[in-house]
Amino acid sequence: MGQTIFVPREVAGNEPRVAASPDTVKRLVGLGFGVTVEKEAGSLSRIPDEDFKQAGAAIGKAADAARADVVLKLRRPTDAELKTYRKGAVVIATMDPYGNEAEVAAMAKAGITAFAMEFMPRITRAQSMDVLSSQANLAGYRAVIDAAAEYDRALPMMMTAAGTVPAAKVFVMGAGVAGLQAIATARRLGAVVTATDVRAAAGEQVASLGAKFIMTDALKDASGEGGYARELTDDEKKAQAELVADHIAKQDIVITTALIPGRPAPRLVSGEMVKSMRPGSIIVDLAVERGGNVEGAKAGEVVTTANGVKILGHLNVPGRVAASASLLYARNLFAFLETMVDKEKKALAIDFEDELVKATMLTHDGAVVHPNFAGSAKGTEPASKAAPKKAPARRKAAAKPASEKAAGAGAKRTSTASARKPATRKSGGEA
Ligand code: NAD
Repeated sequence: MGQTIFVPREVAGNEPRVAASPDTVKRLVGLGFGVTVEKEAGSLSRIPDEDFKQAGAAIGKAADAARADVVLKLRRPTDAELKTYRKGAVVIATMDPYGNEAEVAAMAKAGITAFAMEFMPRITRAQSMDVLSSQANLAGYRAVIDAAAEYDRALPMMMTAAGTVPAAKVFVMGAGVAGLQAIATARRLGAVVTATDVRAAAGEQVASLGAKFIMTDALKDASGEGGYARELTDDEKKAQAELVADHIAKQDIVITTALIPGRPAPRLVSGEMVKSMRPGSIIVDLAVERGGNVEGAKAGEVVTTANGVKILGHLNVPGRVAASASLLYARNLFAFLETMVDKEKKALAIDFEDELVKATMLTHDGAVVHPNFAGSAKGTEPASKAAPKKAPARRKAAAKPASEKAAGAGAKRTSTASARKPATRKSGGEA
């Protein structure tokens, strides 16, 4: 019997996704692994145990983690889960380590080799392993579907014998991976779409999806390192607010997705702007787990304001389209794990010099090894959650795969990025 892989049913955060699919189980078995999937691990992602079984997995129980050489997960293991893992086990998940340094230290203490998938460099070779993109893409899609479901009018223009229904006006703030997919989805539903971003490069991508790009002249370009946005100066923030204030008042649906690495999510929509919207308008704040783009948004809640605007602050939006999200996430994990397997020996063979390993390995051999966290290795005291350390430098992405992000087509990547640091979180969700 070769080495073994365990895929648990997620226990933390009402997580409906699962880190393997019948397709990846088949591939893992093909690599020589024995795979055990916990009973009902896929039930909330519409994958019955029988499908895993037919793909070659054994169906087991949580305690089977104790025998596993590799554990594939969505979320960082809980203390209870950690206790069941054997020393030296490889655990691959979305680890959400910032502000959770004590939990990172606990993984080191447990002796596991933990990999944080969200730190995967955004380079060509790792494109198929980019969980941030695969999940943000679905979140952008789902944001529009959620908005459409709450909106009590039709999105497309409808010319009928009984009169004309006007097309809904949708405004997307932040045109990264999630925002571009939101634009594409809203366009497919027939809405009239406008979008804004602080990176000038986003303009072309927005236009290529058939939406109008809105940007203030006062803000030429706020691209930061690695193709991400930098925080705006106070003057720039003011100019942006002036630009969008009038525009927002005329919108039916606003979807916000703006994030800045290492900072809380920027506040883009003020209470005054919300007040200026018509009753029945919808705002979706996809950044709510990172502090929120919208004043009045509440993590995990749908808030209806005094003037009849609904602000959607759903947590774990990729989990709201769990069956699709699980399939992509599972493939991301498989693609990464495959790089750490010696195919002749049919065994794990981690190359510690590989840039993917260096970028994502958090703990190994009893120590916290990731450079962003190594300082907290010895102590069990968590670093301040309010003031996380500065994000590492990254090189700028030369090619921005707009069509890929919006429509799922392939695209080349040219950036090299190290650990991506999310901004301070105010609530429990992740990934
Ligand atoms: P993100 O999640 O960090 O942020 C979402 C968007 O919000 C970004 O487009 C950002 O510019 C925007 N934003 C930030 N502050 C804003 C503000 N004040 N107002 C309006 N918008 C604001 O971004 P992401 O989706 O992860 O994408 C970040 C970059 O990475 C993009 O340039 C994207 O094209 C690139 N990317 C590259 C690869 C690759 O492989 N090279 C893969 C995916 C994404």
